[in-house]
Amino acid sequence: MFDLDLVKKVYSELPEKVKQAKGILNKPMTYAEKILYSHLFAAQELAAFKRGADYVDFAPDRVAMQDATAQMALLQFINSGKKRTAVPSTVHCDHLIQAQVEGKTDLSVSKTANKEVFDFLESVSNKYGIGFWKPGAGIIHQVVLENYAFPGGMMIGTDSHTVNAGGLGMVAIGVGGADAVDVMAGMAWELKMPKMIGVKLTGKISGWAAPKDVILKVAGILTVKGGTGAIIEYFGEGAKSLSATGKGTICNMGAEVGATTSIFAYDESMERYLRATGRAEVADLANGVKEHLDADAEVYANPEQYYDELIEINLSELEPHVNGPFTPDRATPISQMKETAEANGWPMEVSVGLIGSCTNSSYEDISRAASIAKQAEEKGLVTQAEFTITPGSEQVRYTIERDGFIDTFEKIGGKVFANACGPCIGQWARPGAEKGEKNTIVHSFNRNFSKRADGNPNTHAFVTSPELVTALAIAGRLDFNPATDTLTNKNGEEVKLDLPTGEELPGKGFDVKDPGFQAPAADGSNVVINVADDSNRLQLLSPFEKWDGQNITGAKLLIKAEGKCTTDHISMAGPWLRFRGHLDNISNNMLIGAVNAFNGETNKVKNQLTGEYDAVPAVQRQYKAEGIPTVVVGDHNYGEGSSREHAAMEPRHLGVKAVIVKSFARIHETNLKKQGMLGLTFANENDYDLVQEDDVFNFVDLVDFAPDKALTVELVHADGSKDAIKLNHTYNAQQIEWFKAGSALNLIKQQNA
Ligand code: SF4
Repeated sequence: MFDLDLVKKVYSELPEKVKQAKGILNKPMTYAEKILYSHLFAAQELAAFKRGADYVDFAPDRVAMQDATAQMALLQFINSGKKRTAVPSTVHCDHLIQAQVEGKTDLSVSKTANKEVFDFLESVSNKYGIGFWKPGAGIIHQVVLENYAFPGGMMIGTDSHTVNAGGLGMVAIGVGGADAVDVMAGMAWELKMPKMIGVKLTGKISGWAAPKDVILKVAGILTVKGGTGAIIEYFGEGAKSLSATGKGTICNMGAEVGATTSIFAYDESMERYLRATGRAEVADLANGVKEHLDADAEVYANPEQYYDELIEINLSELEPHVNGPFTPDRATPISQMKETAEANGWPMEVSVGLIGSCTNSSYEDISRAASIAKQAEEKGLVTQAEFTITPGSEQVRYTIERDGFIDTFEKIGGKVFANACGPCIGQWARPGAEKGEKNTIVHSFNRNFSKRADGNPNTHAFVTSPELVTALAIAGRLDFNPATDTLTNKNGEEVKLDLPTGEELPGKGFDVKDPGFQAPAADGSNVVINVADDSNRLQLLSPFEKWDGQNITGAKLLIKAEGKCTTDHISMAGPWLRFRGHLDNISNNMLIGAVNAFNGETNKVKNQLTGEYDAVPAVQRQYKAEGIPTVVVGDHNYGEGSSREHAAMEPRHLGVKAVIVKSFARIHETNLKKQGMLGLTFANENDYDLVQEDDVFNFVDLVDFAPDKALTVELVHADGSKDAIKLNHTYNAQQIEWFKAGSALNLIKQQNA
């Protein structure tokens, strides 16, 4: 399944491409820069691109898609007119599998419930030359790390945690389905040349600290916005001391600080992981171009000169962190949790501890967590909270079962869910969640936005390492610090947990009986793709309308969103995941999680036609029926969270014309552009306050839409008064063509024709 020729091609071209780039840049290069400059699209002229400013066309080596996002991506790809994907691509069935009882039962139920979708993905994959990972094979990012990621490579994936592959030295970036379509169709993939944030790691992790704590600490420093538009490059002796999978965990959660991606340079830990996962040839090839799979020595000697921002962390002093609730950047060292939780009134009792997910289910993670679980049994402790394990892949699951870890977890009451996303993405049928009770859970996943795990807005979810999750689940308390505190066992004795121990890689090697992979047909021309007309899960797409060349006028305010408005708020996951392939049906969740700035409520906005308050999608459907354009207004970092292009397609489908915000999360801003929407920012942030509930928007100079030229919109208030405000945008010439054509896909089709 691994494409060795691809690696050979990349490595054979790497030295010359780096040399050429250096000739132009005339300075030492960071590792990420070497990868970026060696992956320029053929028609892209080599130049010294300005970080944070210049848009550059790239040619990624691979594409990966998960089942929820693949539906829309493939529905779009079918419309591109291509016979096979231009680059190796894979589909992974992981997000649609619900966690309820235990792995086998849940998998079987989910396969039946989602049969139509899995069959669709399987047949499209078969037809267009895409590798298909069946339900139960594992979570996209773990499977990619085990099978496809390679140092020096570049990939995109239709999931924001694609960045996980940075742990194996790859520039891997989460995108929307529309970007995946571009690359699969052989088009350039465009990205603003990222800034570079250097994180120098010194010392060595010890005690209860884990690689997870590096990123939990970084999240506390950078916050959810701090990495926006940047690649985070980790280096230093501390970086070398981490396992490849530990590096993967750190890169994975780079998405939580908004980073474009994160990366570590090639080193011995990566070589060990490549060899352990059956890719010794890749390791040998990588060793042959080692000097190019790292930054230049001058960069490390003077990092402040070559990175736009520099952070230093001494791993020897790193404490275990527990981040949350509701946001992954609220970092609390475990030693301060007691007073912090008390001060904030967070429920102290831990009701469930959940380990695994794409973030933390490596052999090393599981073995360290198992070392804690084992102690519970040996020391006569009764686990106080529920405890679940979500393996990241069948290979990991099979190997940890063989090595007795699953047995160890089951002895403390652990429940093993399917190798899938499950509780990490709201696919957790948690008994009693509907009661909405205030409670605390701790998990080793990456995200903890409100409602994300179980749909209950009062579930306080905290993110930490798997070993600490295990300890907190055993103790049943959020303020338990295993480094200092004792627990009372069945015999009334005070016992202390010893430090976690584990193995980086399985001593007996990885093993798996059926990894769950299906190769595509050599010639897919006769493969038939079925989408039933009456399906409520899948719907073939019709192209969006072209721009009529006129200024948009008379647009009504649909909602002025206040505070955090992530892609979960714009297009909620959980039960809605099942409609990912049906644009009209899923549009019934549009912005239902966004808080209306005028009443502080969710999914309750004023219908300007009736004066009544109603659900956002219902109000928007009425405007659409009447042919009235609308505008959505938002706060800072609008659209943070994920690459879900539904968050852009739904408003587009329902007739919203523009989204005007204080600032955007990168992926969402690009997705809006791809779908032919206007994604604009207030030139003066305070103008957000000028927007009133009954406002009408008139664009004054959209007919002159051009790069680097602000737009003007006139707000007409209910009393007839007006405010003219300036709106900035980041559209380049090509993106303006997308807008004019109605969407990027419309333009691709025109060009293919
Ligand atoms: Fe799945 Fe959660 Fe990982 Fe996303 S973050 S791929 S939902 S396990």
